[in-house]
Amino acid sequence: MTRINDDYAKLRAGYLFPEIGRRVREFSAAHPDAKVIRLGIGDVTEPLVPSIVAAMHAAVEEMAVRETFRGYGPEQGYDFLVDAIRANDYASRGVALDNDEIFVSDGSKCDVGNVQEIFAKDARILVTDPVYPVYVDSNVMAGRTGAADEVGRFAGVTYLAATAQNGFVPAPPDDSVGPIDVAYLCSPSNPTGAVATKAQLAAWVAWARRTGATIVFDAAYEAYIRDPELPRSIYEIEGAKECAIEVRSFSKRAGFTGVRCAFMVVPKALMGKNAAGEPVSLNALWARRHTTKFNGTSYVIQRAAAAVYTPAGQAETGAQIDFYLDNARILREGLVAAGFTVYGGVHAPYLWLETPGRQSSWDFFDRLLREAHLVGTPGAGFGPSGEGYFRLSAYNSRANVVEAVARIARTFR
Ligand SMILES: *Cc1c(COP(=O)(O)O)cnc(C)c1O
Repeated sequence: MTRINDDYAKLRAGYLFPEIGRRVREFSAAHPDAKVIRLGIGDVTEPLVPSIVAAMHAAVEEMAVRETFRGYGPEQGYDFLVDAIRANDYASRGVALDNDEIFVSDGSKCDVGNVQEIFAKDARILVTDPVYPVYVDSNVMAGRTGAADEVGRFAGVTYLAATAQNGFVPAPPDDSVGPIDVAYLCSPSNPTGAVATKAQLAAWVAWARRTGATIVFDAAYEAYIRDPELPRSIYEIEGAKECAIEVRSFSKRAGFTGVRCAFMVVPKALMGKNAAGEPVSLNALWARRHTTKFNGTSYVIQRAAAAVYTPAGQAETGAQIDFYLDNARILREGLVAAGFTVYGGVHAPYLWLETPGRQSSWDFFDRLLREAHLVGTPGAGFGPSGEGYFRLSAYNSRANVVEAVARIARTFR
């Protein structure tokens, strides 16, 4: 038999969502009349907006005609989409990028999972805790960590606790943590909904430039930022092009979780170093990786993504995000009225609440399911510092959100 990659054995076997599913199934089987509302899932619920659907239809028609049919496209993405990204997401906020610094892909999960391939096998990783699990697991698979301890922290990974004390945006570490090669940051954060300010990001950029680390900045939820003072891109910080990669997705911004389109920015000013200590362009490495292992996002899907940037697309997707943010506000107000301490949910689709009396997050999960027939996500599932917290998502129908708030009011009165 063929030897397998033993590093996979270090992973905690897809524990969180299967366990939630198991407990909900068990409860529903015992209480078949209970109408369970799921507020736990990080997936959009609204259908694609009309301008995106029209663009997809038109692109399908082009593919049906010899003269306009397209086969393989450019691996980095068609210029019509890259130009729109460059102008609308970056130039409009004072960030100048070249087209070859933007890599269109079929999802941010792949991008944040794959980007570690261009770093050394012994690169040292830093993440926040709680954290989006892909950053850690992709490095575990690549053999960059030791085993997990009983709370799920992997040996060799540096974890920075995101707590109420630091507003869930940890400051960069001091040098006692030892050298770091790659730091993963997510703002607005999944799971806490916290957003880094310009000053906080500037501290990270200054740290990365001083220590030579590369920041992987996951901005999957940037479109939910409504305060113009808050940075949507790390490149709004002076000097970030020399130390940061940025990941963005159309998934949460335009309902593309099932359509699949995203992009990653790797500036040409960003350098790593080789074994001899000589500078090497990370943009060139990622271009090599991307063109070797990826053959481009579907033409139809790139046309759909480009429609996000048309005036109608901006208005329609903006209204959709406003709808989710209104859901978040309704949930937040209902939870606060019921006595909860709630974070997030202002510039993000996630609310991060303290469990009553800092009850264990799985015990609170069981109580919420049993007494209110509501499903959320235990904070401990995102890392040990998530213990005592609970994530609720604004991705739902308005009717379900209103009903959920009524049940919370009844249960915790
Ligand atoms: C949903 C999400 C993404 C986007 O993933 P896609 O693969 O583009 O759908 C990226 N990062 C975080 C933190 C997310 O929650």
